Amino acid sequence: MSFQDPVMVALSIADKLLKVIVEKRSVPSGEDVKKALTELDLEEVYSGKGLTLFRNRDIIVLALPRGNLVIDVIPSTGEIGEALEIISYHDRKLNALILEILPANDLEYEGNIGLEPAILDLNSGELKSSPVFGRLEEENGIPYLVIDEKTFDRWMKSGKLNVCPICGGQLIWKGKQAHCVDCGYGIKVRE
Ligand SMILES: [Zn+2]
Repeated sequence: MSFQDPVMVALSIADKLLKVIVEKRSVPSGEDVKKALTELDLEEVYSGKGLTLFRNRDIIVLALPRGNLVIDVIPSTGEIGEALEIISYHDRKLNALILEILPANDLEYEGNIGLEPAILDLNSGELKSSPVFGRLEEENGIPYLVIDEKTFDRWMKSGKLNVCPICGGQLIWKGKQAHCVDCGYGIKVRE
């Protein structure tokens, strides 16, 4: 695996945590977060006093699970302009669980990374939005966001298939793969 950037790591974390939210119908716990980050080959370097710190060669992840969940994904170079925040909380008005990725520097991005926040309606147990989260894979030096069929179907219904979930740029599809003309990332749909 070559350099990992915050956006791909954040999308991979969000993908895992969304599965937890749908299954447990609650904001992910500290243990859920630790499991997800460990599965993504991040190493726990500190845990205590209400926070957990993980890292790999390229990325530092700071998790603050305190009812609401805040996870900061920071490049180890300290380029704070590329840092992202994943947040999850219970919205009482909507009676829904929210999971979204926000840029620390919102001038550089159009809208949310992942296109839409995940909104899980607690009355019906249904997702009320079309987030595009997935996991990071690399092929021939090109990084891909790999998404499952369910995610793809929701995305198609949202009518935003031509919008890149990483940078908001334009996607060109060829079968079940797409490439972004703006950021150069690829998307793959896996059955
Ligand atoms: Zn893009």
